[in-house]
Amino acid sequence: MNEEIIRCGRKCREAKMTPARAKAAVNGTGQGLAEQTFYSWARRPKVWCCVTPLPTMKPNPSQTCLRANLHSGGARTGFTLIELLVVIAIIAILAAMLLPALAKAKMKASTAVCVSNQKQLALAWQMYLPDNNDRVVGFNCGYPSDWRMGFGGTGGATPPTLTATAPAGLAAGTEALYDWQILEGYKEGAIYKYAPNAGVIHCPGDKRQPDAAAGHFYYDSYSGVVGLNGGKKPTGGANGDNSAVQSKATPIMKVAGFRHPTDRFLWVEENDYRGDNIGSWELGFEPTDHTTSKWVDCPAVYHGVSSTFSFGDGHAESHRWVSGTTKALAAYGHSSQAVGTDPVDVTYVADHYPCQENP
Ligand SMILES: [Zn+2]
Repeated sequence: MNEEIIRCGRKCREAKMTPARAKAAVNGTGQGLAEQTFYSWARRPKVWCCVTPLPTMKPNPSQTCLRANLHSGGARTGFTLIELLVVIAIIAILAAMLLPALAKAKMKASTAVCVSNQKQLALAWQMYLPDNNDRVVGFNCGYPSDWRMGFGGTGGATPPTLTATAPAGLAAGTEALYDWQILEGYKEGAIYKYAPNAGVIHCPGDKRQPDAAAGHFYYDSYSGVVGLNGGKKPTGGANGDNSAVQSKATPIMKVAGFRHPTDRFLWVEENDYRGDNIGSWELGFEPTDHTTSKWVDCPAVYHGVSSTFSFGDGHAESHRWVSGTTKALAAYGHSSQAVGTDPVDVTYVADHYPCQENP
């Protein structure tokens, strides 16, 4: 005899077992009904019986209730509340165990796509060189000779000057029009023919939301570095590049001056709160002591606490930030923020930052 506690009451009444049948079922095995609250007998076909406390050793049919499953020919009564709660609890426990793993898998997938994007851009960067007298492609996003044409000006309010006309139906001020302009800006740029998929400029982890009213809209996730034909050498406010930090990086213009391609960045992931990662990506580079370099433009954390980087030899990789200050800065998205007390991240970037002082 197997004993198992089950609930009595409504379920038993729903079983519509007659007192005689209940009594027969109980009496069939007889003993053990007294001094316990509930009993059941597991048989094949299964017949469940439960009783309320009995005053004597004899079962009282009027207090006896039965639940029979379909195999016994009785009515089906479904789950009890306890059973249902147990199932829900098990599902909740499984979900709690699985969700972090799923989130981690999603983040890894996002990183993999991002690294692939960066690699395609890096290979396009290489293919551009022999067709252009070994001059490195422009990173400043202003002209067809640059790798892409992006929005200009603070707030990203000035759209690129494009050859193509926007399709009818894309209303001014809408995200649809901004996205078209950004994608078209890449298509009309200098490396599209070497990486003819405009989607490569977007990291799937880049979830910045457009705010058309504020002139902020986003699609491109990557910026080429200033130190590689990305604009004039910043002079600390004199040319308006940055008022707080004077970079000492002189841009490389021809690939002959790029001596360590396996170890120098091309594109970085940028979190520019103004939208569309305007222009190129600038570091307050210090050539004699990289640890004293400063952030000018902001890195990004679109997947966990990592950014992807592409390199001059055509490879790309994900790099995990170490300093809490860097992680906060990258999530914040504003420029010219403090390095903090631990310069490990800004030093890593400076070590790999290409310019004539660090070729
Ligand atoms: Zn990414």
